[in-house]
Amino acid sequence: MGISQYPTVLNYSLLDGLTNAFDEIIMVIGRFAPTPSGPLHFGSLIAALGSFLHSRSKGGEWLIRIDDLDTVRTIPGMDAEILRTLEHFSLTWDGEVLYQSSRTSFYQEIIEQFIKQGVIYPCSCSRKEVSGSPYPGTCRNGPSSKRAARSLRIRTTDQLIQFHDQVQGEFGQILETETGDFIIKRADGFVAYHLATVVDDASQGVTEVVRGADLLDSTPRQIYLQKLLEYSQLEYTHLPVATDETGQKLSKSNGTLALDTKRSPGYYLYLALVFLGQNPPQDLQYEKSKTCIEWGLKHWDIDRIPAQSSRPSNALSSTENHSETG
Ligand SMILES: [Zn+2]
Repeated sequence: MGISQYPTVLNYSLLDGLTNAFDEIIMVIGRFAPTPSGPLHFGSLIAALGSFLHSRSKGGEWLIRIDDLDTVRTIPGMDAEILRTLEHFSLTWDGEVLYQSSRTSFYQEIIEQFIKQGVIYPCSCSRKEVSGSPYPGTCRNGPSSKRAARSLRIRTTDQLIQFHDQVQGEFGQILETETGDFIIKRADGFVAYHLATVVDDASQGVTEVVRGADLLDSTPRQIYLQKLLEYSQLEYTHLPVATDETGQKLSKSNGTLALDTKRSPGYYLYLALVFLGQNPPQDLQYEKSKTCIEWGLKHWDIDRIPAQSSRPSNALSSTENHSETG
């Protein structure tokens, strides 16, 4: 090797060093955003465990955000119960818990910004008039009736919004024809879920969203808002959704699969790992939650997660929740 090549070699190693340094700087931040309208159930445990393992297995942080915007649905004390349940399963979080109810003035600022940009408009349609999707754009050029405006909608476009989901693959929607202009501020005065989620993910520095596949089709709307607000797009992973015997998603409304705190947490963590295709050893169900989490962190493999919804296991019997959690 001639001496003239030294500078080249030197440059490469310098570049390597720089790349590694950048890798370390880009921190992975995941989050779990339960609604305090009921206790966590098996479906929400899957979402919590999946997002925890996905972030923490990469050395990232995992945050908790309480989606308590809808004060009608919020049950007092339920936030504390959810946090206790997460601790029971050794799903420990980083930093302080963020309550969305503390953020309303910030959401209002974003709404004012949208009003200035001319991208939102008042809608006076009743729920009955716009039942079913997409919203036909009735109030796009001014309220359709003399009734007072009830909500604020954001203008959508005919552009295809597509993204790659880590489990579900390519997914895209043309919002104008598939959802229509969607609500940013609800008729009851609460800021809509999509806006609060996007704004808080950005404020908290979240880099990846792991949640149930029932929210897959809400993602293009959230990406659309991210673009309007000039936020970075996140990495999305939509996990299969646990269903009951009739194929219904486990939820508060249809009553399903409560987590029995008298059972060992290892039992549920084992079942959740099985549900997520991680193939845990059977003995893991008799272990402490910490041991199960350690096993999950060591073996987490996103390629093993099945895309389809399914019934978790007949070992579980029936009971209970919403938005990002079940
Ligand atoms: Zn309308």
